[in-house]
Amino acid sequence: MTTRRCFLEIAALALGAERILAAADAPVPFTLPPLPYAYDALEPYIDTQTMQIHHDKHHQAYVNNLNKALAGDPVLSKLSIDELMVKLDTLPAPIRTAVRNQGGGHYNHSLFWQTLAPASQSGKPSGELAVALTKTFGSQEKFEDGLKTAAVGVFGSGWAWLTTDKAGKLAIESTPNQDTPLSAGRYPVVGIDVWEHAYYLKYQNRRPEYVAAILHVINWDFVTSRFKKLTA
Ligand code: MN
Repeated sequence: MTTRRCFLEIAALALGAERILAAADAPVPFTLPPLPYAYDALEPYIDTQTMQIHHDKHHQAYVNNLNKALAGDPVLSKLSIDELMVKLDTLPAPIRTAVRNQGGGHYNHSLFWQTLAPASQSGKPSGELAVALTKTFGSQEKFEDGLKTAAVGVFGSGWAWLTTDKAGKLAIESTPNQDTPLSAGRYPVVGIDVWEHAYYLKYQNRRPEYVAAILHVINWDFVTSRFKKLTA
């Protein structure tokens, strides 16, 4: 993460944060939230087998490893996944790396599933989000171009994001590995997972094709309403 904040700022941010990951938010042991649609719901853009392996195997592994890392710590075990990610920089060193990687994986994927929907229900940004996107990036198309460029440009594994602060100031950014913008004091609004496990079965090395495809299955109703809650 490029941005670091002191503990008090982070704590203040956490107290004001909307709990946006209800299904994944319960403290240890964390559980894998079910997909909010069928495995084949994102076809033909995201294939069924990728969704099965990505959700049932990869996300489950992040959950299991996070639970293992926190099992011996009764204090940290009481925190929600949001709180853990917000407080990342203040955690004890031996646990910090596990929370960063496994907790980040759990947080990012829990959000990711919710921000996707079948292409027929993808819709468009509306309301305050549509206004903010146009104001910040010039148009919806320019925003999508910027997000695509960020996603294609991630070296190795990571994520591209649309993020906001509480005032609704939007930005496109990227993070390596499973780092999440929440740990840098920014709220992820929508993210594109560009780990190869997210696309390799169908797209192999053609990450730009996958990135273009996933923009057909963004759940803009969810994302619009998430932006509104985060900036309320
Ligand atoms: Mn993934």
